[in-house]
Amino acid sequence: MRILVTNDDGIQSAGLVALADAMAKLGEVWVVAPDRERTATAHAVTLHKPLRVHSIGKRTYSVSGTPVDCVNLAILKIMPEPPRLVVSGINRGVNLGDDVLYSGTVSAAVEGTILGVASMAVSQEGQNRFRFEVGAYFSARVARMILEKGVPEETLINLNIPDRPLRSIEGVRVTALSRRRFDNPIIEKVDPHGRTYYWIAGTRLSWSRSKDSDHEAIAEGVVSLTPLRLDTTNYDALDRFRAWEPVLRTRSSRNRNPASGRLPDRSKRQHRT
Ligand code: MN
Repeated sequence: MRILVTNDDGIQSAGLVALADAMAKLGEVWVVAPDRERTATAHAVTLHKPLRVHSIGKRTYSVSGTPVDCVNLAILKIMPEPPRLVVSGINRGVNLGDDVLYSGTVSAAVEGTILGVASMAVSQEGQNRFRFEVGAYFSARVARMILEKGVPEETLINLNIPDRPLRSIEGVRVTALSRRRFDNPIIEKVDPHGRTYYWIAGTRLSWSRSKDSDHEAIAEGVVSLTPLRLDTTNYDALDRFRAWEPVLRTRSSRNRNPASGRLPDRSKRQHRT
């Protein structure tokens, strides 16, 4: 049984190595990861330049592209047949709440799900040092559950690990995404030539503390497991927006002959002299 391991921190990342080692106990691991850090590339796909793949070890490849490129190349080209599981990480830093929209780590798991493979993203809380051994332990535990029980269609798992030693983590909590606010996210500076430039580098101001949120679990020292789905349709809002349809109707649809269902003939008006 094959398992694909990828990440967005790049092929050199210690988190990737820890994850690949943990997955090796469950199956045949294939590592296909970006050749350099690609954090916060979200679901970017490289379309306008060629991608290079380098074999750098046994079933280990670096790719000159994004995490989503890596998953596509691995599943559709490099691996002899699709894996049973895609695991992305272990990321340096958590991916909580809105982070999942920016994260290359999560997007790799999204791409695996799109391609029909059970997928999980794993992210580790930390500052300069990261307890990847703790993340690796829980990655293996959850991966084993996925392989035994399966996951619902179009559903991936976003796993976040608190920065605590293993013995002080009581377990895993199933959570929902939280929301966050940024404090002053755009930092303005002036370069040596007197021109203004910007850093998008805000610090977190606060999190909404909804019950059972992913942020709350990490703050309390519990592993957070959030099921995410591909379909982001807001079904509760469908009727509200359907009320806009009559207002947004075009002239041609108002003039449409309901008997024939055809558009009115405008040729006469266009050719009028
Ligand atoms: Mn990253």
